Amino acid sequence: MHTPHYINGQWLTGEGDDVLVVHDPALGQPIAELISASAAQVDQAVAAARLALPVWKATPVAERAAILRQFAGQLTQRREALITLQMRNNGKPRHEAEVDLDDAVATFNYYANLIETQPADRQVELAAPGFTARTRLEPVGVVGLIVPWNFPLVTSAWKLAPALAAGCTVVLKPSEITPLIEQTYGQIAEQLGLPVGVLNIVTGKAATGAALSEHRGLDKLSFTGSNGVGSQVMRSAAAYCRPVTLELGGKSAFIVFDDCDPDQAVDWIVAGICWNAGQMCSATSRLLIQEGIAEALIPRLQAAFAALRVGNPLTEDIDMGPLTSEAQWQKVTEYLAFARNEGLQCLAGGSVPQRAGWFVSPTLYVDVPDSSRLWQEEIFGPVLCTRRFSTEQQAIALANDSRFGLVATVASADLRRAERVADALEVGHVWINSVQAVFVETSWGGTKASGIGRELGPWGLAAYQSVKHVTRCL
Ligand code: NAD
Repeated sequence: MHTPHYINGQWLTGEGDDVLVVHDPALGQPIAELISASAAQVDQAVAAARLALPVWKATPVAERAAILRQFAGQLTQRREALITLQMRNNGKPRHEAEVDLDDAVATFNYYANLIETQPADRQVELAAPGFTARTRLEPVGVVGLIVPWNFPLVTSAWKLAPALAAGCTVVLKPSEITPLIEQTYGQIAEQLGLPVGVLNIVTGKAATGAALSEHRGLDKLSFTGSNGVGSQVMRSAAAYCRPVTLELGGKSAFIVFDDCDPDQAVDWIVAGICWNAGQMCSATSRLLIQEGIAEALIPRLQAAFAALRVGNPLTEDIDMGPLTSEAQWQKVTEYLAFARNEGLQCLAGGSVPQRAGWFVSPTLYVDVPDSSRLWQEEIFGPVLCTRRFSTEQQAIALANDSRFGLVATVASADLRRAERVADALEVGHVWINSVQAVFVETSWGGTKASGIGRELGPWGLAAYQSVKHVTRCL
């Protein structure tokens, strides 16, 4: 990767201080190396985006929508290569890599349709006589987009598609751990003849991210990642009083009531914690089990964890791959050590398989006290902690007792109860009798420490639009 940065329509060599080594996590071996973008290159990218803004925001909506649909088409054309790259660089099983690709395609198509059907100008009904007023939606301007490594294709699409649809110009900073996936967006932009400077991609570690988030030339910053970095990004935005969208961490509950079919519940629970090897902000890592189903559920869950096939997605038939980075593997194995020190009861996993690569066995701890670090903190790995409850009110209280508020799942045959519980949960998204189903028409984002703002749906577009009113005296 000699020219990984896409700035002002050109592919450039990195001039930053960091060498980024990209790995195949199933083998723990390097597959590519690149040099990060320097602060000066971030500056060039922001300048290019600023220069391109008047042209892009004046581009007729129908043309912008057509380009978004072409993005979707080009992603589809590159389907097999992108699926393989996600398997190789993220360690995703094939079926998960396919879902990510489909999600990115759907996102570009959705925002193409939404921007075309949304009137740019709307008359306002005024109670006061003698005036007219209209609402006008304008692009926010030049936006910085900083993304993590767990769903690179998807997280970038959720930001890029609405930003481009709204008429914003973009500087995208992919994660240093998975920087190859987002190169595709630059290649597509180049192939489609997107005006130069509309999309710029600068890759790097924290220094490159900070150069972008601290840049005075941005009109908005949208960030997905950890709470620690999210706070820094927000401080930088405060210096210029500019808006931020923050999609941060989670410690989400799965509530299972005793009227559930235990076999069905086990399928949902396993998917909620082992999809993407648990590296999901929305992992339902706290399982709340109603007393009456515990005896039936826990042995089934233990058997299901033990039966999961963990391995290399490129060479084995698997249910779960490795963790994506060595740093993440170290973090998760530290939590397994905390669990041993805390004396938690482990019914599955709790260890790492004896093989090369960054693997962790699917892990189940039962009856975890709420004082445990594993109950309170985001682990970001396939580690599930359970507790029991007897009443609906107890379940709600346990689920809401968290500094995070991203998602929750409620499993119950009593749909009125499930809806009631969903309404009482302090989170951004609740799934009833389903798991991790994210539709582009709904919203994504959290309450409390899980973030600020919403992606997807019309809210995802509004995040890149500024509201103006023109009021006229007749
Ligand atoms: P991270 O915060 O370490 O990194 C995220 C991005 O920020 C990367 O591109 C990184 O290079 C960049 N960065 C690092 N330091 C920076 C700085 N000082 N200034 C600006 N940018 C900087 O997070 P991660 O480890 O890549 O991702 C895992 C975290 O992301 C988890 O906490 C997870 O819950 C969260 N996440 C949230 C969502 C959501 O939608 N809520 C989705 C995915 C991941």
